[in-house]
Amino acid sequence: MLKLFRNEFPSGQLKKKLVKDGELKRLDRELKELIKEKFSSKLTLYILDSGSCSGCELELQALFNPLYNISNTGIEVTYTIQDADILLISGLMTENMYVEAKMIYEQLKEPKRVITIGDCPLFQAPFKNSFALKNEGKNPFYSEYAILGCPPEPKTIMRELLKYLKKVG
Ligand code: SF4
Repeated sequence: MLKLFRNEFPSGQLKKKLVKDGELKRLDRELKELIKEKFSSKLTLYILDSGSCSGCELELQALFNPLYNISNTGIEVTYTIQDADILLISGLMTENMYVEAKMIYEQLKEPKRVITIGDCPLFQAPFKNSFALKNEGKNPFYSEYAILGCPPEPKTIMRELLKYLKKVG
């Protein structure tokens, strides 16, 4: 395994691949400033997968890797909905997840900030004919903002989060 890894990333190359480009540095800086100004330096997300293929979650997870390192901006993930500032919903709304999702949404503190991730919650693509869907797969909860893509890549998520944060009071 180690040999395979060394062949894939000869000495020094791994370091080179992790260098942030100019846009990433800017996104990092601006997100940090806005979170400091509007959320006292800590923005807590609760991620709800209501029936995704896991593609969007993988991109969300990538935000916390050493390259994107979104924790540096003050963003963190919680598993306690009462602690969350924003509820992120990914995937279609399945029959099985509907009751759970409704319960989570009701416990989200005011003002209820909901962002959808990916094309699924809006366009029900690509599973719109699935038998497992509730409400034709649409997210039934009021969502302020949609981050589109199938899946949206980490930098897109950062760009869109920045746009959203500029709008919130
Ligand atoms: S938007 Fe695409 S990647 Fe995201 S959950 Fe739906 S099918 Fe998967």
